[in-house]
Amino acid sequence: MSLDLDVLSIAAHPDDTELTCGGTVIKTVEAGYRVGLLDLTAGESGTRGNAGLRELEAAKAAKIMGLAHRENLLLPDAGIEDRRDYKLKIAQKIRELRPRTVILPYWEGRHPDHYAAGKIGYEACFYAGLARLALEGRPHRPRKIIYSTLYVPSLRPTFVVDITAQFEKKLKAVLAYSSQFSDRKDMQNLFPAREDLRERVASLARHFGLMIGARYGEPFVTTEVAGVEDIVKMPVRSI
Ligand SMILES: [Zn+2]
Repeated sequence: MSLDLDVLSIAAHPDDTELTCGGTVIKTVEAGYRVGLLDLTAGESGTRGNAGLRELEAAKAAKIMGLAHRENLLLPDAGIEDRRDYKLKIAQKIRELRPRTVILPYWEGRHPDHYAAGKIGYEACFYAGLARLALEGRPHRPRKIIYSTLYVPSLRPTFVVDITAQFEKKLKAVLAYSSQFSDRKDMQNLFPAREDLRERVASLARHFGLMIGARYGEPFVTTEVAGVEDIVKMPVRSI
C-alpha cells in the first residue's frame, strides 16, 4: 500500500490534531492536497469517553476535515515512550504513506504523550529514510517537518497559519469528540460545555491570529530557518 500523501499529521491522541492544527489541515485539504492523520493511541486512558467511542468520533472528524487517510497505531495511551519498536512502527507507516510534509506535536509540554510523540515522530521520519533498516517498502524521508505548538501557548511560534476561513469547520471537527467535553454531569447542561469549548478554541486561535494580523491562526515551530526570495512581498505588517 502506498498512499503518497502531501501532508501527514502524527499525534498522540485522537482529537489532538483537530485541536492543535485542525484549521491548517482543513486549509491544506481545501488547497487540493492529500492530507492524512496518524493517531498513535486510541486515547483509552482519557478521563472521559472510551476508545470505541473515540474511534467513531475520530472517523466523524476525519470526514469533516476531508482527510484522505486516518489510522490509529494503537500504542498504549499514557505510555508513549522512547522505544525503538514504537519508532519503527511509525517509520513503517511513513514509508507506506510517503508524506512530503509531516506535522508533529512540539517536543516539550505538559502531557508526556504529546512531547514523546514529537520526539519519536521525528526519529521515525529519519529512520523511514534509512535503506538498510529492516522495514518493508522503499525508503522515504519527508522533506519538511513542522511542529504544532498550540498546546504550549507561551512559546513564540516560528510562523502562524491564518485559519479564519476554516475556523468554523475546525470547531465542527473538534465538536465531533462530544465525549470529551460532556460527561454525565455535563450532559444535563450540554450547551454551556460546548460554549466553553468554543470559547477556549476561539480565544487561542484569536491570540495567534493577532500575531499575523488575521482573525484566527494556528502556531507552528520549525527548527530550520525559512528562506525569503522577495523582501517586498513578505507577509505580515511590521507597523
Ligand atoms: Zn492529547
